[in-house]
Amino acid sequence: MESAGESFDVAVVGAGMAGLSAARALAEAGRQVVVIDKGRGFGGRMATRRLGTAVFDHGAQYFSVRSRGFGSLIAEASDDQQATIWSRGFPRLAASGAMEMPGDGHPRWCGLPSMTAIPKRLAEGLDVRRASRVASVAVEAGKVVLRFEDGGALQAAAAVLTPPVPQTLDLLDAGGVPLEADERARLETVTYEPCFALMAVLNKPSRVPAPGGLAIDNGPIAWIADNQQKGISPLPALTIHASPHFSSEHFDDEPAEVAALLLAAAERWIDGGASGVVEQSLQRWKFARPVTMFEAPLAVVHRDPVIVLAGDAFVGQRVEAAVTSGAAAARWLIRS
Ligand SMILES: Cc1cc2nc3c(=O)[nH]c(=O)nc-3n(C[C@H](O)[C@H](O)[C@H](O)COP(=O)(O)OP(=O)(O)OC[C@H]3O[C@@H](n4cnc5c(N)ncnc54)[C@H](O)[C@@H]3O)c2cc1C
Repeated sequence: MESAGESFDVAVVGAGMAGLSAARALAEAGRQVVVIDKGRGFGGRMATRRLGTAVFDHGAQYFSVRSRGFGSLIAEASDDQQATIWSRGFPRLAASGAMEMPGDGHPRWCGLPSMTAIPKRLAEGLDVRRASRVASVAVEAGKVVLRFEDGGALQAAAAVLTPPVPQTLDLLDAGGVPLEADERARLETVTYEPCFALMAVLNKPSRVPAPGGLAIDNGPIAWIADNQQKGISPLPALTIHASPHFSSEHFDDEPAEVAALLLAAAERWIDGGASGVVEQSLQRWKFARPVTMFEAPLAVVHRDPVIVLAGDAFVGQRVEAAVTSGAAAARWLIRS
């Protein structure tokens, strides 16, 4: 077998909120950490995209801040104009057709100039290798060995794996890491729902009500956001999230057909209907949100060397859940 190259204390797979939170805490505790991500940017599902000069948050739309650790990160980001409260609730179009106004008043935060500001802040000073797809995770001579699709490799004394759980299991299987049957069965119960995100640049301001986000109870669309009202796009730019039901049903359909169905359902919020759209792009999130959780903040699947699994599915369906899980994985490694 080809020898594994560089060596680290901890290798973290995934530069989403879970992986970066784990890596930051481990680096602050003095560990030599490397973070690997297949994507070109930071943040995983906390994602921003541009179409010309229009800007879209097309994954996570906003986040809650309830825990102390995440609270201090966001307070500092807010002081540096990298985070702000977008709203304290969003209108909801009920299945009856009635528009319900927000009720709980809890702050919904977003990143500035867009959502990826937060993962970028977490990544500052860390060794993050992007556009590097891990093909397998193996255990060799007491080390965790990561092999990359491009043929390279690295080794570490421990690893934190944060891709969606089915993808992590594939990496462990590809590397031949044996899992206990009970643990594997528990991990295999973790499921996710898909989500189409249609991004549309408009030639006029949208009709999405203030503050630029609307939840919809019935139909192909579950959420529509106006990134201009949100304050992140200089041009009118909608992010349209399909419902889990629609996304599952149409997951393998032609993107152009899916986009046409979603645009037709969104016409009411676009001045001029479909003719008001000047550019569009469809993103397909296969593992958008966990539906069945693992019910523990992390999973230790190998002890010598240690391999820990973390991510939103270990805590909840939210950005803050991913942060909590990543931080728990780091604490576990630091203690052990
Ligand atoms: C459409 C959508 C809307 C959402 N809306 C909200 C919302 O409004 N509020 C909220 O709180 N949450 C929302 N969420 C959920 C939130 O985005 C996630 O809970 C959170 O971002 C998950 O973070 P994570 O680090 O666990 O996983 P991820 O962000 O998925 O990070 C995993 C990382 O692993 C990388 N990876 C995977 N496989 C490999 C490999 N083989 N090699 C290298 N790297 C790999 C991926 O590229 C990715 O960057 C939404 C999600 C989606 C998709």
